[in-house]
Amino acid sequence: MNKKSLYINMPKKIYIRTFGCQMSLRDSEFVAGLLLDDGFTLANSIAGADIILFNSCSVRKHAEDRLISNISDLKLLKKKRPDIVIGLMGCTAQAYKDKILDRLPILDFSCGPGNESDIPKIIKDIMENRCGIVATDKINDKRPEIFPEYRQDRFRAYVSIGEGCNNFCSYCIVPYTRGRERFREIKDILKEVKDLAKRGFKEIMLLGQNVNSYMNPSRNLTAYSSKPTAKKSDFVRLLEALNAVKGIERIRFMTSHPKDASADLFKAMRDLEKVCEHLHLPLQAGSNRILKLMNRGYSAEKYLKLAGEYKAAGRIK
Ligand code: SF4
Repeated sequence: MNKKSLYINMPKKIYIRTFGCQMSLRDSEFVAGLLLDDGFTLANSIAGADIILFNSCSVRKHAEDRLISNISDLKLLKKKRPDIVIGLMGCTAQAYKDKILDRLPILDFSCGPGNESDIPKIIKDIMENRCGIVATDKINDKRPEIFPEYRQDRFRAYVSIGEGCNNFCSYCIVPYTRGRERFREIKDILKEVKDLAKRGFKEIMLLGQNVNSYMNPSRNLTAYSSKPTAKKSDFVRLLEALNAVKGIERIRFMTSHPKDASADLFKAMRDLEKVCEHLHLPLQAGSNRILKLMNRGYSAEKYLKLAGEYKAAGRIK
């Protein structure tokens, strides 16, 4: 059966409201792309949609409160139109698991970040069987290398290089919602970026909870470095490989962790002409006592040393 025919008698328009960081924005774009490839179309507003998805963020309480209030506001709409599908995806879905359906009974499904590739199938199941679905079991799985064509911007593209975090900062929920750190192969990232370049994209933003700890899973790096024997981090080798992609003019990345940043990264930022002069290196606190309580893994002195190395690399005056 043709994929599109699965939805022939089903509602067609999707609307996604996104809360949170660039990772969330990329996830929404990815899920929208999957659904577009499956025959759905985009709605401009909630009022015009048949499927309403909320992509959630649990990092700040304010975002979570707004999310819950936004979903609760749909009670009347759901009463008038019981056929619409309302779904939750992202970090809040993972954090609350099946409890979220008790708290927000108008939700038809809730899906953690690791299960987002399954959303088209989940929606189809709901349309056929109308039962609440919770999908949060793939929290530590590597995502399949699927790239729907849809991108929100024409020139700038988000490229996820990995997901999850092993740092367990004491104030942060991310390791519990996005799972343990796992990265994509350089060859797969390169393939995606070359494809974006062919389509006319000029700028890429590499995304990961901690891009500096990037490690090519197969450890096969020699093909991606002009000096394969030089001691460089895998992230620097990735930047070098991407810097050579024809058509791409600017490369940005976020977020960096001071614990894993080092002089070789700063030198690469100086030497690779496409890597932008923008470094997000969250200090979090200037007190060693607080940094320890936060479980950040570095001291104020180490941070100052890094800042000095960044300056010495000549990228900032
Ligand atoms: S490094 Fe960032 S994502 Fe990971 S636990 Fe700490 S604050 Fe959260």
